[in-house]
Amino acid sequence: MQLDGKTKCSVCRAIHGTLPKRYVFVHEFDSALAVLAPSQYYRGRCELWLKVHHTELFQLPGTLREAFCHDAALLGKAMWNVFEPRKLNWEILGNTVPHLHCHIIPRYTWDPLPKRPIWENAQFKATERRYCARRIEKLAMAERLRAEIAMIERRRT
Ligand SMILES: [Zn+2]
Repeated sequence: MQLDGKTKCSVCRAIHGTLPKRYVFVHEFDSALAVLAPSQYYRGRCELWLKVHHTELFQLPGTLREAFCHDAALLGKAMWNVFEPRKLNWEILGNTVPHLHCHIIPRYTWDPLPKRPIWENAQFKATERRYCARRIEKLAMAERLRAEIAMIERRRT
């Protein structure tokens, strides 16, 4: 189901209208839009938003599902190369925002709760607003990610 920018879906509105300022655009893939998440407590944390409105991964036609998974993997590889985390977490939740999107979260050696989801980290939750403020730094991170994505794509062709 494809919705236009007049819907109540905040992701559809962001994709078809204006990107809210708390997000920073990274890259437009075939299937999805990559943005840096508002909080950068976990440096490099991104979200990948499917360009059309669906709520569940299994609902996507095969080629779109394959493209979304391909694009997620490509973004994750670029994040891995640029930010050098210990591990990446991949989360498709949709409880709050029911538009198919994937959180890709770098986890580092300093992580206070390395075996738990980030949403259980009270320090992350408490400092979320502070890490929203560094827009200049986020723009630089987005540029590094774009360059890395382009380099990975060139190697594949
Ligand atoms: Zn939507």
